[in-house]
Amino acid sequence: MKAPVIGISRHRIQTDGQGITSLVCFHGCPLRCKYCLNPFSFAPETKYTAMTPEMLYEKVKADELYFLATGGGVTFGGGEPLLHADFLKQFRKICGENWHLCAETSLAVPWQNVQKATECIDTFYIDIKDTDPDIYRCYTGKENTLMLENIERLAKLLPPERIIVRLPLIPDFNSEKSRHHSRNRLAAMGLKQFDLFTYKTSF
Ligand code: SF4
Repeated sequence: MKAPVIGISRHRIQTDGQGITSLVCFHGCPLRCKYCLNPFSFAPETKYTAMTPEMLYEKVKADELYFLATGGGVTFGGGEPLLHADFLKQFRKICGENWHLCAETSLAVPWQNVQKATECIDTFYIDIKDTDPDIYRCYTGKENTLMLENIERLAKLLPPERIIVRLPLIPDFNSEKSRHHSRNRLAAMGLKQFDLFTYKTSF
């Protein structure tokens, strides 16, 4: 079993997960967000390394002492890491239970993938965009039915401590009002941790 890895960033502190983490980015994403910061993560011409979970473990294990001392571990991003749920499960078997594993996901993948990920990922960072179907379609190019079904099922399956929902204010696409509506809708599902921020569209 191999997955396309486009990058590994080591020694990240409190940026995408607790403690010291290594960020592992996969190629491939089902969405096409208008302000995507990583378009190379789905561009067909992007070069990647096809890795087995064992190969990835060999690459990242040098930082195990940091992970164990700080409660950190590996954060899987992309692209969309849940496209590689079997890979993640196998990686967990190899690294053991003491590493903290996180996934940054849009949940725009089949439920089967999400369910497998719950068996090996400690904390989910969910990039929800917006729960309004029209806003979501305009911004990502996809319907949000799958994402909404998945987050509702996930909220029933996991304690809220394991889920952090990112709720962006997206210039020219959503508004404080629609974000507020999204938050209420997700809170009604039992979700408790929300990260509110604004996308920067000029630098
Ligand atoms: S989900 Fe993330 S990687 Fe995929 S298109 Fe949107 S911003 Fe880019």
